Order: sequence, then C-alpha cells, then structure tokens
Amino acid sequence: MTQFVGAIDQGTTSSRFIVFDRHGAILAVAQKEHRQIYPSPGWVEHDPLEILANTQEVIGAALARANLTAADLAGVGITNQRETSLLWDRETGRPLCNALVWMDTRTDELVQHYRRDGGQDRFRDKTGLPLATYFSALKLRWILDNVDGARTQAESGRALFGTIDSWLAWNLTGGPEGGVHLTDVTNASRTMLMDLATCAWDDELLATFGIPRACLPRIVASSALHGTIRTPPLDGARLAGILGDQQAALVGQACFAPGEAKNTYGTGSFLLMNTGTEPVRSKAGLLTTLAYRFGDEPPRYALEGAIAITGALVQWLRDNLGLFDSAPEIEALARSVPDNGDVYIVPAFSGLYAPYWDDSARGVIAGLTRFSNRGHIARAALEATAYQLCDVVAAMEADSGIRLATLKTDGGMVANELLMQFQADMLGAPVVRPRITETTALGAAYAAGLAVGYWSGTQELRDNWGVDATWRPAMPAELRAHHQRSWKKAIGKSLGWID
Ligand code: ADP
Repeated sequence: MTQFVGAIDQGTTSSRFIVFDRHGAILAVAQKEHRQIYPSPGWVEHDPLEILANTQEVIGAALARANLTAADLAGVGITNQRETSLLWDRETGRPLCNALVWMDTRTDELVQHYRRDGGQDRFRDKTGLPLATYFSALKLRWILDNVDGARTQAESGRALFGTIDSWLAWNLTGGPEGGVHLTDVTNASRTMLMDLATCAWDDELLATFGIPRACLPRIVASSALHGTIRTPPLDGARLAGILGDQQAALVGQACFAPGEAKNTYGTGSFLLMNTGTEPVRSKAGLLTTLAYRFGDEPPRYALEGAIAITGALVQWLRDNLGLFDSAPEIEALARSVPDNGDVYIVPAFSGLYAPYWDDSARGVIAGLTRFSNRGHIARAALEATAYQLCDVVAAMEADSGIRLATLKTDGGMVANELLMQFQADMLGAPVVRPRITETTALGAAYAAGLAVGYWSGTQELRDNWGVDATWRPAMPAELRAHHQRSWKKAIGKSLGWID
C-alpha cells in the first residue's frame, strides 16, 4: 500500500492540513483562517477551541479531497505558531482563557520588572533569549496572576500549560481520556523556561518567574513516536513529529548542515541558521534556539533573527485601512507607482524584535508629502519587510562570520515577486524560492516520516529540495545606500516611542 505523511500546520492566521508523498509533493491541502481577537491595544488572542475545531475540520477536508483515511498515513506531524500560550483544565478540556498570542504585548510591565534586576539579557546565557513580551514564560505568568483559579489549578496539576503544539497533541491523543501532555525541544526553547544546554525545564527559571512545574508538559524530541491519535478522522494514526513553525521550515528547506539558513515570510519573518550541535551565543541581537532533535541524536541549534511584523502589515493595510480586499492585491497597488516616493513604514506594532529588541518602539510612517498616495504606502509596506530582513541578515553575518551567499525563502509572501526582487536588490545577494514553498508543513511531515521510517534519513530529504525561481540583485549601489540611510532614520523615529 502506498502511504503518505500528514502535517498539521497551525499558524498565526490559519490552520492547514497537508498530505505529502515521498518526494515532498502535495496530494491534498485544506486551510481555514481563525479570528484574531484584539481586546485592547497591544493585546492579541486566539480562541483555542476555535483553533482545535478548525484543525479537525481541515484534516477532514484534506483527507476527503484526496480520498484518504488515517490508514493511508504513515505518520502525522504538528507544526505550530510558537510561544502562543494557554492553560486548560485537564478534566474538562476547557481552556481557562483565550491563548495569548506571541505578538501580544500585555506583559510589558512584567518585562520591565524583571529587567530592573540584571537587565534585558540576564537569562540569555541559559535560554538564548532576551527578556521580551514575545516568549511564553511571562504570558503564562500573566495568566496565573490574572485568571481566576489559574494559579491554584496549575499548582495542583489540574490545569495544564501548553503552547499550541501541546494543546493539539493532547486533544488529538485523547484529551481528558489519556491525552499525552508534551512539547518538543524547539517549542520548549521559546518558553524562556528551558535550559538550552540540557533541554530540560530549569528550576531556577521556574522559581524566578513563579511557574509551578506541575502544569508543564514533558519535553520530547522533535521526531519520535509521541502517541497514537484517538480522534476521528485520524483515529489510529501515529503522531510522530512536533516542531515550532520556523524550525519546521528550516527542516523543510533541508538546512541540515551548519551554516545553512532560510527565511520564512509570513505574519512575521524569521531567519534561521543551523549552527550544528553547539548553541552559538549572539552578540548582535539574535536568538539562540533549538533547531530540531531527531530521536536520540544530539540536539541541533540555530541562530534566529525574528521580525514580528511583515505579512501582518499587509493584513493591516487590508483590514484596518481597507486599501485592498486580499493580500496578493498589494502587489498590483505597489506596482501602480514606480518607487516608494520616499515613504518608509516601520511596522513596530508589537515593539521591534531582532536586532533591536525594543518593546517601546511603535509604528511610524515617515517621509509623507502631499504627493504620497496609496501606491506609495503599499510599496513602502512591502519594502519594510525587505529592510527588516536586511537588518537581521547583517546581524546573522556578524554573529556567525558566514556571508549568506543566497537567501532560501518560503512563506505566504514569497508569492510577491515585487518583494522578492526588492529583497535581492537590498541584500545584494540572490533570493531563491524552492519548488515546495509549503516548507513549514513539509518540515513537520519530515520529522514524522523520519520517526516512522518513511524516509531513510536527511540525504533523501535533501534530494527533494529544488529551485523554482531565483531573483538577482540589480539595483544601483547609490539607490540602495539611499534606502538604507532612510530606513535607519525611520527606525530612529520608531525606537523608544513609549515613555
Ligand atoms: P503564517 O504562517 O504566519 O500564518 P503565511 O506564511 O500563511 O503566514 O503567510 C500569510 C501572510 O502573508 C499574511 O500576513 C499575508 O498578509 C501575507 N501575504 C500573503 N500573500 C501575499 C502577497 N501576495 N503579497 C504580500 N503579502 C502576502
């Protein structure tokens, strides 16, 4: 019987289920967006039950489309939006509150509090992360402090903490009836509660952040037999892979050797470079994070440049300004003008992440004149993605000492050819889009398929990778320098906006 591998891709904007064959080709896909809940400025929530229902729905829809059942899948992997945190009741399966999404900034006062004693980087050696609203520990702390009964239930083990991978894995494997409560090393490395060196929860961090160990999931490898799925339509399938979405894309892009890197352009953008079996400490404002752990092999580490807002700025122009009806339309609007008309947008909606790490930064549109129009705004929005990426590439090159000869890309925004060309122009290096752009889901499928022996090893996965399109730099150096200068000025207006 020919078998396939399934991947649940639970992203910030939508949930997908994709079925892949041995060559990484897609047999079926289904996708559904979920609500973004903004209760007050800076707060971003998701309804975990909606996410679970959507996930079940897209699994059913994709399987039906390809006329497949659980028995046709050798294994199933999960990849997920990272850091997004929730607490749920292990007996009823009900979340105690909505999930706090990674870009939510409500923990900024807690961040300030912890920074006072030792500064932003006080936990960097152990966790690879700066203190910021981004990571899970303080989101969980906020829930424990602000949701009725949360702390008592977490301490007694009645309430379970998880990032979205844990929430889905627990539900899929039986929920209140024997669901497994676990998270993989990559997701755990984003909580700020795990010691990078040991890949275990760290007592000192737990004590510092006031987090009871009883509510935490077990940390497992990214690729291993995690459990059997007990809910239709996947009943009986093996859950064998879990990876945070950016690490999954690194795997999906076959970046298995130290020095290999990829960038994913989605809601935010994330540049990750494999650094092998040693965690590399960043001096340039990047994160040190787990890349993946396959079975009993030593864990692999990565350097990461995380940018909070790229595609989300496109959504904002669509939803908050009503400039167009769907994200892809931004390209035609941007092409309606020959250049940005000297308009620059810094989309610091959730502060600025790498390499600035400034929670007090806010968005600015700079350089407006009476001449500026919607086309310039659209163009500036796309260009903002490219400038932000250049900033993290510079940091990556400084930290790793490796010059990125080409940039491997994926994610929703790579359909935008104007952006891809502009990125190559600003980087001064070719930008490459692979044949399979669903690399996030593919990475989760790879993790699951390796664990069940569907694929023999990483060389077979490498052979699946191929180039679809390449954009080469063509911009005059003078113009590039002008853009770089103007971008730096715009960044200067954004930093430190909140007193
Ligand atoms: P995520 O996994 O973070 O949910 P995706 O990789 O699915 O994100 O990409 C979706 C993002 O890409 C959205 O923010 C959307 O605005 C943006 N996007 C999608 N298509 C385009 C396009 N053609 N041009 C620019 N942005 C786009």
